[in-house]
Amino acid sequence: MCHEVGHTLGFQHNMKASSEYPADKIHDKDFVHQMGHTPSIMDYSRFNYVAQPEDHIDPEDLIPRIGPYDIWATHWGYAPIPGAQTADDEKATLNKWSREQDDKPYLRFSTANSAGSDPGDETEAVGDADAVKSTALGMKNLQRVAKMLMSATAYKDGETYEDLAEVYGRMLSQWQLEMGHVAQIVGGFNSQEKVVGQEGRIFVLVPKIRQEEAVKYLVDNAFTTPLWVLDPEILRRIEAVGAIDRIHNAQRSVMTALLNSARFSRLIEEEAIDGSAAYSPTEFLATVRKGIWKELDAPQVKVDAYRRTLQHTYLDLVNAKVNPPATAAAAAFPQAPEGGRGGRGGASASTDEKPMYRAELRALAVSVNAAIPKAADHETKAHLEGVRDEIAKILDPKFLPPAPTAAAAGGGRGGIW
Ligand SMILES: [Zn+2]
Repeated sequence: MCHEVGHTLGFQHNMKASSEYPADKIHDKDFVHQMGHTPSIMDYSRFNYVAQPEDHIDPEDLIPRIGPYDIWATHWGYAPIPGAQTADDEKATLNKWSREQDDKPYLRFSTANSAGSDPGDETEAVGDADAVKSTALGMKNLQRVAKMLMSATAYKDGETYEDLAEVYGRMLSQWQLEMGHVAQIVGGFNSQEKVVGQEGRIFVLVPKIRQEEAVKYLVDNAFTTPLWVLDPEILRRIEAVGAIDRIHNAQRSVMTALLNSARFSRLIEEEAIDGSAAYSPTEFLATVRKGIWKELDAPQVKVDAYRRTLQHTYLDLVNAKVNPPATAAAAAFPQAPEGGRGGRGGASASTDEKPMYRAELRALAVSVNAAIPKAADHETKAHLEGVRDEIAKILDPKFLPPAPTAAAAGGGRGGIW
């Protein structure tokens, strides 16, 4: 109700608010009691998923409420300014009041023209000043929750397992959401709205080391199979088959976000403008590739069913970048011959994207070829051979069969090679 009343007072959403408290304070009992876990009720920062049982935060303080930003912004918008006859007369005073944002970050609002680049400007985030830290704590809570799902939903004789299925699905959505906040750090800018006369820039690169840390976190936690969600006691009560798909869909959404074309364009531009201070797009792509295909370096190569699906997702997404669907490409570049050039993701796709992903595929092909003789089981060997063929098809789309018969054609490319 407070949030909706905020809208009637003229407030827009302030999705940046939740990132303006230091991440460590979000689960500090006294801080949260005094300041709330987000400075504004106008953020979508619903419940404090960062707080841990051992923090002993009062349950009342876990619920979002009107925060210091809301009080400050109401004052800015509504306090009478004595002596002012016109709106222009108020300007000097209002600007003076706004400057309080310089010293108190928690009074700040989303930055204009940030175009989705600010990792703090996130919906459904808590503690997104440091999404790696906050998501790691959020994951600890999800793992606790996972163990409670049965007793919380399936306790009454004669009832169905519908609630269990629903809540299990919601747990995976939350997993996906929190992982997505980490992906946003890559190619990101921390930003603060400023006017002429205020010190410093509006957009400041997220330090390279934090971007590297975010990719490492995702490789280790999102792309490494979260085995704790795979409880047979739950899965076997929900459906006969579908566990791999569930994990796969959640991981696919995180990978899609991480490999987003607008993000890649930012990485290219940041390197062009900031040089070695930027996170290199080449390094980014190589780290993601090596993380998703980390099994290949082992003396004996074994890729399990979850990871085989994940690796196929990688090829799918890269294929869409290297060979964008004909209709999307035609719309973006009407005159471009056969398939256009990397138009997927709108006008923001960098012209570097396609060649750089092709280079990734060539590097991957080398690792896959070297790994095939080391395959520890038949599934892995068949997978790697399939991957080798798939990479060849992506790199040489002339040999792609016409779309309607693609599925029926299966692996029958042997004759061509
Ligand atoms: Zn709203």
